[in-house]
Amino acid sequence: MTTDAPQVPQTHSEPPAKNENGRLPLHTRILIGLVIGAVLGGIANYFSEHLDLGKVLEVTDTIGRVFLRLVFMVVLPLVISALALGVLELGDLRRLGRVGARTLIFTLILSASSVAIGLGIVNLINPGGRLSDEQRSQLLAQYAKDVASAEKKADEAKSLANTLLDIIPENPLQEMAGAVDGSSKGNGMLAVMFFALMLGVALAMTPERTGTLVSFLEGTFDVSMTVIGIAMRLAPYCVACLVFGITARQGPDVLVTLFWFVATVVVGLALQMFVVYSLVLLGVARRNPWQFFRDISDAALTAFGTSSSNATLPISLRVAREKLRLPPEISRFVLTVGATGNQNGTALYEGVVVLFLAQVFNQDLTFAQQIKVVLMSILAGVGTAGVPGGSIPLIMIVLRSVNVPPEGIAIILGVDRLCDMCRTVLNVTGDLVLATCVAGEETADVTAATVPPAA
Ligand code: ASP
Repeated sequence: MTTDAPQVPQTHSEPPAKNENGRLPLHTRILIGLVIGAVLGGIANYFSEHLDLGKVLEVTDTIGRVFLRLVFMVVLPLVISALALGVLELGDLRRLGRVGARTLIFTLILSASSVAIGLGIVNLINPGGRLSDEQRSQLLAQYAKDVASAEKKADEAKSLANTLLDIIPENPLQEMAGAVDGSSKGNGMLAVMFFALMLGVALAMTPERTGTLVSFLEGTFDVSMTVIGIAMRLAPYCVACLVFGITARQGPDVLVTLFWFVATVVVGLALQMFVVYSLVLLGVARRNPWQFFRDISDAALTAFGTSSSNATLPISLRVAREKLRLPPEISRFVLTVGATGNQNGTALYEGVVVLFLAQVFNQDLTFAQQIKVVLMSILAGVGTAGVPGGSIPLIMIVLRSVNVPPEGIAIILGVDRLCDMCRTVLNVTGDLVLATCVAGEETADVTAATVPPAA
């Protein structure tokens, strides 16, 4: 599909991305909010001894959470309606199979390249070897208490067979209850998605007397998008408050100590984003990457501010419709599945952390162990909940599997939030690249099937 592809018929109204009152575009306002929040947070951290920082943070955290709660409030109805309608609109099961298979193949390719870049760059920069013994023990002691809760979650992780079985929810309502914040005991969002997928398939197979249910889903989708439109008006202020909270608490010390680790992560993410994605966009989707990155800026900035793919999903859906002009049935299907299943940034990060900690503990991973890290990181990218810090328990599982002490994760916890903001941008951008490529392939197929061969 090209940038000037014909606009797909719109069956659902969605709020416009730009403010029509001549104000700055939304992404510019979010960006300004991010910068102001970060600068003020840095200043507050510097003067923290002279300020009642606790009181200020209480106010800013509350404002930040208003936005998150407004968005999370509608994530579940949105995921269910978007996925069920996406499947239904794909029409027949053969087309669903084709789109599903393409989504899976592109996900595997993008995740594999992401992890490979991460491992390559961590071997090249060797950030673990640059940490002194003193810095290592200091960091371990400082964040040790935060490890316990992550370890508990890692302990609760199930066998592969049970994980697969739990994708089919016994009680969808129970799964829904814990899906958004990742606290579900089952497979959370994956199970909810399975439910929505089955709902869409069953609706497609039951055309009679299901019109009301379809209208209900369409209404749910539209209403959810309206709520997101309201939330987005608050986004610049709330995102500023969220970032303020992070920089005011954190301070620059830990960043200086872990400079090489953060640099490795950021360089790896940037390579995947600007090199791999650009090549894929040019080669597969025949799109101008520069224009693409401009088009998706609302979603990327929201991902950066919220560190959550789930919270950014509604914005991605809107960007896909209004800016990228992807067919809604494809973007609904691919983006909803991708928010949990295609997390390139998370996959890259997991690989980098495991190798970094192996370097810190002077453990040479064998080739077989590195391959294991690659495979587990790709899978972990599929299974990670799209919430802030969702990947931490999974990183501990990968660490254990290659005999690197899982409590070593304490070393990077101080900069995890910053890295989370960056990897979530890649997660969300990867979903939009995926949707663009799948849509491009589908359009090519449809065109080939409808255009008669030249005589
Ligand atoms: N915060 C990430 C996301 O929502 C998940 C993670 O890597 O922790 O996409």
